[in-house]
Amino acid sequence: MNKIRSSSSETPWSPKILNALNEQFKDASPRTILNWAYESFGRDVVMATGFGTSGIVLMHLASSLRVDPTIFYLDTDLFFPETYALKDRIEEEFGLTLTRVHSGLSVEEQSRQYGKELWKSNPDQCCFLRKVQPLRKFLHGKGAWITGVRAHQSNTRKEAGVIEWDAANNLVKINPLVRWTSADVWSYIKINELPYNSLHDKGYPSIGCMPCTKPVEKGADERSGRWVGKNKTECGIHVKKNS
Ligand code: SF4
Repeated sequence: MNKIRSSSSETPWSPKILNALNEQFKDASPRTILNWAYESFGRDVVMATGFGTSGIVLMHLASSLRVDPTIFYLDTDLFFPETYALKDRIEEEFGLTLTRVHSGLSVEEQSRQYGKELWKSNPDQCCFLRKVQPLRKFLHGKGAWITGVRAHQSNTRKEAGVIEWDAANNLVKINPLVRWTSADVWSYIKINELPYNSLHDKGYPSIGCMPCTKPVEKGADERSGRWVGKNKTECGIHVKKNS
């Protein structure tokens, strides 16, 4: 095990250690970063996917590393049918069993408790109930999580590093594709003939829940079809909180 820990009990991963790791991995391939993650954290690292293109690349890489990875998705019950179909395909083709993380709150129960179509009246609360809170519970006690965050995706992600301290969830966050562009991701998918969400061919570069995802014009910001008309660009799971 290649564990690197700060001596501080308050911030287990100090900025100094994170800077050194980001320097170490500045030109590293996603495979190298993933290998480091699994060697460093063993069973304590989990990978998240929302079945976007970056997630497909990461799941494909992880499935080739012989590490029996724990890969989870936050099931909001509101995915497109195409997304659920892709999940089944990935499990079959990559030989993976994905872990479903769920709020425990059905859409009907949410309507009764918080009002009908909460995603219209209060999308932040809807995302908190269906994504942020279940994620927090699932990550509790884990050492690190791996995500498909890329700096090119949007303004809110442009400062993301390869290795970060996730203060909101109290663990290390690893973004192996942080420097990849959309073209890099698509090139990997095409070269390796990987499955992907058929909605990408219909104008949806970024796909989330059905009520909050729209197709976008060609060349528009990758995530500009999410929460259209709302003052919201992130669901909250990748929002930085100062430690
Ligand atoms: S993306 Fe929309 S539907 Fe999904 S959890 Fe957030 S607000 Fe609710």
